[in-house]
Amino acid sequence: MPAARGSNEILRSNPPDMMELVSTLTARSMTEQSKTHFEVIVIGAGVAGIYQIHRLASLGIDATVLDSAPDLGGTWYWNRYPGARFDSESYTYGYSFSKELLNEWHWKERFSSQPENLRYLNYVADKFDLRKHMQFNCRVQSAHFDEAANQWRLGLDDGRQLSCRFVVLALGLLSAPTLPRIEGMASFKGRSFHTFDWPHEGVELAGKRVGIIGTGATAIQVIAEIADKVGDLTVFQRRPNWSAPLNNSPISDAEMADIRSRYDEILAACARTPGGFEHEPDRRGFYEVTREERIALWDRLYEEPGFGIWLANFREIFTDEAANAEFSEYIADRIRRRVKDPAIAEKLIPKDHGFGVQRVPLETHYFEAYNRDNVHLVDIGETPIVRVTQTGLATTDRDFDFDIIVYATGFDAITGAFDRIDIRGVAGERLAEKWKDGPSTFLGMMIHGFPNLLMPSGPQSASATTNFPRGIETGVNWCTNLLEYARKHDIVRADPSLQAEQDWSAKVTKMYSAVLMRKAKSWFTGYNSNVPGHEHGRPRYLVYNGGAPKFVSEINEVVAKGYAGIDLTRDVEASNRHPAAGAARSG
Ligand code: NAP
Repeated sequence: MPAARGSNEILRSNPPDMMELVSTLTARSMTEQSKTHFEVIVIGAGVAGIYQIHRLASLGIDATVLDSAPDLGGTWYWNRYPGARFDSESYTYGYSFSKELLNEWHWKERFSSQPENLRYLNYVADKFDLRKHMQFNCRVQSAHFDEAANQWRLGLDDGRQLSCRFVVLALGLLSAPTLPRIEGMASFKGRSFHTFDWPHEGVELAGKRVGIIGTGATAIQVIAEIADKVGDLTVFQRRPNWSAPLNNSPISDAEMADIRSRYDEILAACARTPGGFEHEPDRRGFYEVTREERIALWDRLYEEPGFGIWLANFREIFTDEAANAEFSEYIADRIRRRVKDPAIAEKLIPKDHGFGVQRVPLETHYFEAYNRDNVHLVDIGETPIVRVTQTGLATTDRDFDFDIIVYATGFDAITGAFDRIDIRGVAGERLAEKWKDGPSTFLGMMIHGFPNLLMPSGPQSASATTNFPRGIETGVNWCTNLLEYARKHDIVRADPSLQAEQDWSAKVTKMYSAVLMRKAKSWFTGYNSNVPGHEHGRPRYLVYNGGAPKFVSEINEVVAKGYAGIDLTRDVEASNRHPAAGAARSG
């Protein structure tokens, strides 16, 4: 099990706000709550779950969404730490399914912040009247497949038992936060919390002594945002991360009007690119252009908004050690130019991996934060943390006193949220056991031996490596089409074959051999020092590295071949009642 979310406020953080709770309980449809069987149950009311229930409701499929949170939004409901914002262009993060929605919503910033993102998701849910299909404050503890009935049976923490023909796991990729395992965490007398659990009512920072552990994408946002608001900030860095400027800016009415007029073009560009962004790779060969031309490209990209510096770069950056090293050195020089103290600058430059082989955080004045007198960097590679004390932290070098400790220590990524539910398939096989050495799936959306279970953004799909909403729309549409097909053809059981799953997993594994990412210690390869079994070098093949267009064509091909690779079982009696269903392929 991951380290418990353990000490003092960590356990107490985010008790549901009473008003929020009352309003959600009132809003929750009593009919919905008293029903015990649905055709489809969706677990998770985040970006994927919201779109999934919209699709199901539009088709008149009897479905509900369950979420343990007091309200919808998933990632954007929970992560309320200062500085939390998109690093995808806002207008590429919105849903694309409704022209009306695209035309109505005004993104205020190129990279929109958490409160606005949550407001957007609420707007979508209200506009399409989706709340009536959602149930909150209910955590699914177990999901067991009943072979005799070809149904899933779900156990909830509020004591309810629900059943459904199909279950859709829209659990999110980064929804299982992990704390470090440090002696004494429960003894700290100040406030401490994981960034995921940043108190919703906000935290008084003025004059406070704050310690933060971690320098991933989350910490990089927090540090830059709070450096000038706290009394004193000490950053405990185990390994630095490569990072480049976000270059955020407001979006005026005129700019938004222009974006609206170009949505078709923008979304088509996203559909063309490997990462689902507007940023297209530079198709020139790294070695075909001169060094001056390479520098010219990098100078331009460094000043441009968003992930261009990563994704509009030469393709060799991802695959060729020498090309990657040359570019990494370019970014290292940029860091040296921004950080006044050369010794601190060197500590902020990664030495164990090249740029872009881990997920690149984008920053706003992050490096400049270290030029402030009240911001201190502690290299815990050199002087490790030994314990949390009542008043702060002790490293092998010295004691630090804090009012607040922030754990920006990441997530049990991609599979963590699955492991936290007791999922059992055919013959009681436990999913956590099947996946203990890494996930294996068919298309990242189904699992052999776990029939009627769908994952619109599962492990081994392209969604983790794609601008998330672009990826989840693909996944949700594919899953919905299968559900529609099942309804039309009286399919009561859909289970990918073992061979199909093995072939897909082998393909996903093989793709890692082409990318430098395979060598990185990051969540893309399943590394997490806080989760037993995930802390050492054995990579877990979690993501599809072939790019979104190839992924889409592969999953569409399965459909074109009549769901090849999936064993489909029909309810023959039902089919006899309406012969059109008989046209389905049945396994
Ligand atoms: P992360 O990238 O996994 O970073 C966790 C950090 O905590 C790392 O610096 C890690 O050090 C450190 N750490 C973990 N356990 C530790 C321990 N026991 N002792 C000391 N240090 C420890 O997690 P994250 O920053 O939350 O980001 C996760 C992902 O969320 C991102 O990659 C991104 O995909 C997403 N995200 C997106 C946005 C956005 O869209 N704008 C913003 C934030 C996050 P090591 O590197 O040494 O392991």
